[in-house]
Amino acid sequence: MKSCAIVGINWGDEGKGRMVDLLCRDYDIVVRFQGGGNAGHTVVNEKGSFALHLLPSGIFHEGVVNILGNGVALDPENLWNEIRELREKGIPVTPDNLKISERASLLLPWHRDLDIFEEKRLKDRKYGSTKQGIAPFYSDKYQKKTILAGELLRDGLKDRLLSLMEWKNLTLCGVYGAEPYTWDRLEEWLNRCCSPIMPFICDTQQYLEQAEESGKSMLMEAQLGALRDLDFGIYPYTTSSNTTAAYAPIGAGLPGLKLGEVIGVVKAYSTCVGEGPFVCELFGEEAERLREAGSEYGAKTGRARRVGPIDLVATKYGVKVQGATMLALTKLDILSTMESIPVCVRYRLNGAEMDRFPFPSDLSEAEPVYIRVPGWNCDISRIRRYQDLPQAARDYVELIEESVGCPIRYISVGAERESIIFR
Ligand code: GDP
Repeated sequence: MKSCAIVGINWGDEGKGRMVDLLCRDYDIVVRFQGGGNAGHTVVNEKGSFALHLLPSGIFHEGVVNILGNGVALDPENLWNEIRELREKGIPVTPDNLKISERASLLLPWHRDLDIFEEKRLKDRKYGSTKQGIAPFYSDKYQKKTILAGELLRDGLKDRLLSLMEWKNLTLCGVYGAEPYTWDRLEEWLNRCCSPIMPFICDTQQYLEQAEESGKSMLMEAQLGALRDLDFGIYPYTTSSNTTAAYAPIGAGLPGLKLGEVIGVVKAYSTCVGEGPFVCELFGEEAERLREAGSEYGAKTGRARRVGPIDLVATKYGVKVQGATMLALTKLDILSTMESIPVCVRYRLNGAEMDRFPFPSDLSEAEPVYIRVPGWNCDISRIRRYQDLPQAARDYVELIEESVGCPIRYISVGAERESIIFR
C-alpha cells in the first residue's frame, strides 16, 4: 500500500494541515491517528479559510475518504460542532467521506471538567493545557475507564456509562468538591452529541485492510510535533499521545503497515504554544514583529504563540525522532523583511556547546548559540520555482537541510494551496 505520514518536526503549528490539504489529492484515504480537538490545522483553499480541530484535512477533497483512527481522542461534542460548521459552509460531510473507528475511545464530558479543575489547582505550575480534556482522557484510556465508539451502537451502554460515572464521581466530588454527574446529564450528552455521529462509526480496520488489498493509498495526519510527543518530547510539557510517525500505523488502524514516506513539516522559524522550555524564545519588539508577521495566534484558543528563530538543534532531533524521509519548509515568506536572520546552531549547557537535544529537565539551563545569515529582503510569495528564489533564501534552505541531514522537497511561501515550491 502506498502510504505516507505527514508529521510535525517541532512544537506543532508547523503547517501540517496545509501540506495534507495540498498532497491528499494523490491519496484515496486520509487518516488522523492521534490527538484530539486540542489543536488546530488552518487550511486555506478555494472554498475558504477553515480551522480544523479533529476532522482530517482531506475532508475538502471529493473522493477522499477521511478516517478518525483508533488513536484519536474522540470528543463527540467537538466533532459534531465541527461537522455542522463545515456543512453550514457547504462542505459535505457524510458517512461516505468520513468514517470513525469503532475502536476510537470516547472523550467523556467529565474529562473536560477534570482538565479545568486540575489546571486551576496547579495555578502557576500548570502545563499549559488547552482544557479540552485530553490528558484526563488519555489517562482514563490507559486505565481502561472510558468506552469505545462502537459501544454507542451496542447493548450494555447504559450500564457501562453508569459504572464509569459512579467511579468518576468519587474524584469529581471527593477531590475537587464538584457536583456529581447524573444519568440525566449523560443522557442529554448522548442525545445531543453522540447520536448525530453514530452513522459515521464503523469497522475502519476492516475497511483499511480491504483498501490495502485493493492497492489504495493512505495519508496519515498527525497533530502537534515531535517535541510534544509523550515519549520523546519535552516531558511533562508534552501532549498525552504519540505524535511520531512510528505510531501512525497503530493509531490509524493498520498496525502491521510499513510506512512509506514520512514528510516532516518544519517552520522557517520557531513557535511554541503554552508552557515549557523554549530555548530560542525571543521577547519584546523583535518577538512582536515576528508574531505579527506570521499571525502566530493559536487556531483553537487564539493564544499568542511564543516565537523565536529556527532552532537547528531541536529540528535535527525532531527529524530523527520522526524518521523523516523528506521535509516541507513552511512560512519562508514570513522572514522576507529581515535584514539578517538569526539561526540557532548549538546549545550551550554546563559550560559546553552541544548539538544534541538535551534531556527535558536540562533544557531550562540551555542557552542558544546563534549565527546570523543574510536576509533576502524582498517578497518571495509569488515565486514557484526554486531557482527563482533569491540566493540568500536558497542559502537559508540549504543551511537547514545540511544541518538536519534531510532533503527539503517542499517550500511554502504563502498560506494558499498553490503558494508552494516543489523541489
Ligand atoms: P498545523 O497545525 O501544523 O497545520 O499548523 P497551523 O494551521 O496551526 O499553522 C499554520 C498557519 O500558517 C496557518 O494559518 C496556515 O494558513 C499558515 N501557513 C502555512 N504555510 C504558510 C506559508 O508558507 N506562508 C504563510 N504566510 N502562511 C502559511
